[in-house]
Parts: sequence; structure tokens; C-alpha cells
Amino acid sequence: MSAWKTIRYLSLEGRPQCPSPICVALVKKGYATRSVRYGYYPRRWEKHRIQRFLCKTCNHTFSLATGTSTFRQHKPFVNNPLFEWFASCGSQRRAARIFRINFKTVVRKFESIGSESALFNEEDRKKAAAVQDIQFDEMESIEHSKLKPLSIPLVVDSKTRKILGFEVCKMPAKGHLVEKSLKKYGPREDQREEALDRLFRRLLKNISPTAIILSDSKPQYAKHVKLHFPEAHYSQVISRKGRSSGLGELKQIGHDPIFSLNHTAAMIRANVNRMFRKTWCTTKKLDRLIKHLEIYAKYHNTVLIKQKAPSSDLTSAIPSTAA
Ligand SMILES: [Zn+2]
Repeated sequence: MSAWKTIRYLSLEGRPQCPSPICVALVKKGYATRSVRYGYYPRRWEKHRIQRFLCKTCNHTFSLATGTSTFRQHKPFVNNPLFEWFASCGSQRRAARIFRINFKTVVRKFESIGSESALFNEEDRKKAAAVQDIQFDEMESIEHSKLKPLSIPLVVDSKTRKILGFEVCKMPAKGHLVEKSLKKYGPREDQREEALDRLFRRLLKNISPTAIILSDSKPQYAKHVKLHFPEAHYSQVISRKGRSSGLGELKQIGHDPIFSLNHTAAMIRANVNRMFRKTWCTTKKLDRLIKHLEIYAKYHNTVLIKQKAPSSDLTSAIPSTAA
């Protein structure tokens, strides 16, 4: 029996839209396209068969998997465990060993999970209401060597510790490494100003114009805040020496006015393996650090800070014993 004889016409409701550019353009113009069932194909990683379709308008075939986020992936079942792994101190080489997959697969998965997390964070920013209270500062990391440092401006919501946004940029070496860095790699561009500018421009809709903004005492910060949030209540706090157990981010004693920012930075230092203070896992490519931070930001915002209910909710949930 030929395949054509097995074709059954689909009902109007159950008919999937042909994803070919020709048909998408036709549908946009108001024309109807018609597709028919066109057999199945077996999926290797699960005992399941996928319905194929033939478009009678453009003669292309497609399936129920076409256009999904796991289309053409051979091991989509490791996507979620890997996402949690990368946000929980895991390295790429150890992931290959633990999940029993090839290292090249891990690298590809890292890139796709990173891109998906970036899209998720972007969508999340679009949906969220403008924040009234923020804190920002810069973290530092390296690109392959300490002679090539990177700067990471970071903005967090003071109340919830949600990561609102970050940027990654190059900066020249500091202190005793200046001479060595110049000798080995030549002059290094300082992109910190434009990165902070780019970050604030991206977050214009996410931060209320009259927000309370707190930052470190770096003199360059004030002009950026004044430019993007002229009506905001901005104040700077004096930087203090980090506590040895606080990964350099948590401060020594007493009340820290930018605790939310410093605590989030410490969490990044503790949970993203390439951001550890002493590590073998260093960033080799700048875009991979961006992807890793996007993965952590998604995990931080959706899992880590969501597990803890706000204090006001907790107090209202506890029954009063005064009576
Ligand atoms: Zn078509």
C-alpha cells in the first residue's frame, strides 16, 4: 500500500500550520494553507513516534517536532539536569563524566541552554513591573589570564534580590599586573563606561524613574545614574573590606547598606564555577561567561530566591497567639 493511501485529511481544528516561509507569508496575507497527515517517524531517545505532515500548498513536509526548542536534539532529557548543574558549581568536563555524554555534547548544550536562558530573562524583564528600589555595582573576573581582567556591572532588586541585569566587558589590568599585562598583551581597552551605559539603557523600562538607587562609592557612577534616571533618589555608600569567609563580596562587620547586591554577588561567586575566587575553570571566551551568567540569573530568579517566601507573607501565615 502506498503512503499516499494512508493519508487522512485533518480536521480544521487539529491541523498544524505549515512552518515553511512561503506558507507563513501566505497566512499573514489571509490565505488558508492545507496540510495532510504523512506518516510517522520513530524518535530514538524515547519509545514514541512523531506524526509527519505534508503541506498541500507548498509541498514541504514537517512534523509535530518542527520548530520546538528540542528539535533535532538527540538527548533533550539532559537539558534540565544540565541547566541545574551549570547553576550549581558544575563544570563542563565533569558534566560529561557524570551524565555520561560526550564533552562536545556538553559544550553544545551549554550554548543552547545559555541562549534559552537569555531569552527567558529578556521575556521575564518585559513582563515584570518597574522596580522601586535597586542596588548596583561591578564584579570582576578574568578572560583566560589575570592579565586580561573583565568587569561585570550588576543590577539587583534590593527587596527581592532578583538579578535585573548584567553586562560583561573588558577592562585593563590593575596594580602590580599592569606592566606584565602591557608587555604580554599590549594596551587593553576599558569598556566599563559603555557597558554600564548599555546596561542602564536596557533596564530603562524595568526601573522606576523615581526609584531609590544605591551603589558603591565609585565616582564615575553618578553621571550614569543622572543621565538615565534624573529623578531617582541616588546615594553612594563607602566600600568596605570584604570578610574572608564572604568570598570578598560580603563585608566585614555591621550593617551593609548594599547587602542585597553583595549577597547576590557572593552567590554568583559560590555557584558559578568560573567565578570562584580560586579555580581551574577560567573563562576562555567572553560570550561563554555571558551565557553562564544568564543560566545562573534564570536559576537564581526562578528557583533560589523563589523558595523563600517574603517575610510579610510568613508573618501573616503564622496564627496569632496573643488571644
Ligand atoms: Zn507549506
